[in-house]
Amino acid sequence: MRPPDDADTRRAIAPVICYPTETLPRPDLALYAAARAGAEKTGEWIAPPRDAVAFEVAAGEFFRITCTDGPQVGDLNLWNRHDLQERFYSGKTRALHGSHLGIGDRMWSGFPHLRPMATVVADTLGWYGTDAFGGRVHDVIGTRCDPHTHHLLSGEEYHHCCHSNLTRALAGAAGLDAETAAGMVHDVLNVFMCTGFTRDTGQYFMKASPVRPGDHIEFFSEIDLLGALSACPGGDCGAEHSSDAAACHPLKIEVFRPDPKALADWQSPERNGYSGGHGLPG
Ligand SMILES: [Zn+2]
Repeated sequence: MRPPDDADTRRAIAPVICYPTETLPRPDLALYAAARAGAEKTGEWIAPPRDAVAFEVAAGEFFRITCTDGPQVGDLNLWNRHDLQERFYSGKTRALHGSHLGIGDRMWSGFPHLRPMATVVADTLGWYGTDAFGGRVHDVIGTRCDPHTHHLLSGEEYHHCCHSNLTRALAGAAGLDAETAAGMVHDVLNVFMCTGFTRDTGQYFMKASPVRPGDHIEFFSEIDLLGALSACPGGDCGAEHSSDAAACHPLKIEVFRPDPKALADWQSPERNGYSGGHGLPG
């Protein structure tokens, strides 16, 4: 189809940021750093290769995800431990912070809660930046590898996709049946995954993660959390996922508890203040 005469003019319009963040509540990273300095390790979990593990973190504690044995991507889900309906909302997190998360960015919960669930406080892959392909690390654009899309594209059955791994972990931790748990698994933070969109077709791409043993990302837990982390069957996601072909490694989760006095002036964030009326007669 022939473009209109003013096509170039229309394309030349400068973009504006959808959600300017000047008024977004900022985390007090200095306070968090001071609290972390005196924190003691209180828990450890391992997500085995091609499987997931559930873990608990209290508000005011820190949790660290570490690559231990070899390049490995993790798919992270978070729920409010006291209300599993409140869960991580990757789409709004992406709209607020961009396609990939770094230090100071937060994992926000869905409507009507819309509050920070966790804040990134450390990231040993922060040096990576944006590569020549537009790839960056720790995305909130991918959804999670799942057996339904895999079946759609290949006709095969595979039970160790991140979606199924997270389902088993949540089912075990919360005492839910498979169908209920699967319905509560949600779009993830792709920990350590290196991804972007192709410039020509706009397709979601992945490439081998730059993560190496010892690398970690760490979060401050803003509310009481139930988390689940899947060690993706794609391993470093350099070639494929949803199969047993890739080299796969475990991921470690550690929890650190600060001295309560260090957070005496800190308050867990309240739920979003919108009235909930939606313009309907009250
Ligand atoms: Zn996966």
